[in-house]
Amino acid sequence: MNTFVPYLIIGVSVLFILGIKFLSSPKTARSGNLVAAAGMLVALVVLQKTGGDNVWAHGWTFNYTLIVIGTLIGLVIGAIGAYSVKMTSMPQMVALFNGLGGGAAALVASLEFIKDTHYSGIAGVELSIPHDSAFIAGSMLFATLIGSLSFSGSIIAYLKLEGKFEKPHTFPGQNILNGLILLVILGLCGWLTFNASSGNATTAFIVMFALALFFGVAMVLPIGGADMPVVISLLNSFTGLAVAADGFAINNLAMVVAGTLVGSSGTLLTLLMCKAMNRPVTNVLFGAFGSSGAAQAGAAGVVGTVKPIQADEVALLLAYAQRVVVVPGYGMAVAQAQHSVRELTEELGNRGVEVQFAIHPVAGRMPGHMNVLLAEANVPYDQLIEMEQINPSMDRVDVCLVIGANDVVNPAAREDKSSPIYGMPIIDADHCKTCIVMKRSMAAGFAGIENHLFYKDNTRMLFGDAKASLNALVAAVKAS
Ligand code: NDP
Repeated sequence: MNTFVPYLIIGVSVLFILGIKFLSSPKTARSGNLVAAAGMLVALVVLQKTGGDNVWAHGWTFNYTLIVIGTLIGLVIGAIGAYSVKMTSMPQMVALFNGLGGGAAALVASLEFIKDTHYSGIAGVELSIPHDSAFIAGSMLFATLIGSLSFSGSIIAYLKLEGKFEKPHTFPGQNILNGLILLVILGLCGWLTFNASSGNATTAFIVMFALALFFGVAMVLPIGGADMPVVISLLNSFTGLAVAADGFAINNLAMVVAGTLVGSSGTLLTLLMCKAMNRPVTNVLFGAFGSSGAAQAGAAGVVGTVKPIQADEVALLLAYAQRVVVVPGYGMAVAQAQHSVRELTEELGNRGVEVQFAIHPVAGRMPGHMNVLLAEANVPYDQLIEMEQINPSMDRVDVCLVIGANDVVNPAAREDKSSPIYGMPIIDADHCKTCIVMKRSMAAGFAGIENHLFYKDNTRMLFGDAKASLNALVAAVKAS
């Protein structure tokens, strides 16, 4: 059976890569999940067993029953979580699951590191850590460090997204203190790599583990709550790297491949999100952006007045429109208005109006947020148009319906060099003939800044909860 192991590993790797590839489009995302899950099943069922020799060689007792029990528990928790989570709580669930992955990776590496020790630092018995080489010891330490900080950081991210912390926790000299803690951790790891058999190794290891957990908390606490999706994506890449390091430590190639894939895709996603927000990743990590401090900036350059409108007046505009573009945003997710949007656009489509959805890469609070919501409401995929594709034709749009979006349509990003979001690409909703903005008030969005669009001559504000406004619009359009 062992002869087939390398081929099975290649097969599993191909399934993981295909899974990620399929996840890049809403059309194929479901199959992507299934393909990757199939890869994981093969890795669990076949590779664990055939890789048993390697595990044995490291002194473990291969216990198939425990693996089956663990898999079943994981399946049940995963299925309950997936069925019960609300779409608006997806980032929290991702944070929690990512944290557990990081914690598991850290535990695997820790156990591997100390399994042959007798806790000399605590019980006074001599250590005998038979690590093959400094490289293996280094892999274990790296996985422990990265996995445990990813665990504790993800738990804080989860609590922040749940609204348990009102604002970022900052104090003077925080970054310096965090830097010092990191230096101590790295120093301990460096020492342990070459002194794994020393009498003080276990004590040093436990201190390093505890500091890494603390560092995860200290790293995420100062970050603005709304920046959490970017942080989660970064922590996700950390978890991947920890799993890859575990793979080196326990000689499991499938873990190396899967961990590297997660690590690299998480890093790319983090960079893409930062690019779409036009902010360097250092600004996300150390800037406490999205905190109360940034609130309501940018009001200075506002020209014009706010012009409210009623649903029946909007229905009239829509009745005469040939081309309508919907720009969905975070407010649509909050209001759970995706089904009402689909009903409205279907009605308009039946009346011969050309309807499209303009999708901004960071609309909402997680990558692909709008695609997921609209797919859930069965909006046809071919109506979803990426920002770069739709922008050149926005001046030929009769009515643009901005539904719960704010920052992603703020012209300050194009026009106001002093704006915190200057340079962030936006959907040019202000270029259309008439722009209808649906939101509850004049409150700012995630960036905490005034939106110049709301004051433009061609903009009308339809105030109210997005779902209620859309239902009123559907009724008015049907009656017209
Ligand atoms: P914003 O956060 O800019 O604005 C959302 C708007 O929705 C608010 O102004 C709010 O106004 C309105 N709203 C809230 N609830 C409702 C409701 N029930 N009915 C109607 N309107 C409602 O959202 P955008 O999608 O425009 O922009 C996303 C922002 O999040 C960007 O700044 C992006 O950088 C950031 N971000 C995105 C991430 C991603 O991966 N997608 C990750 C991290 C950050 P009011 O209260 O008046 O109703």
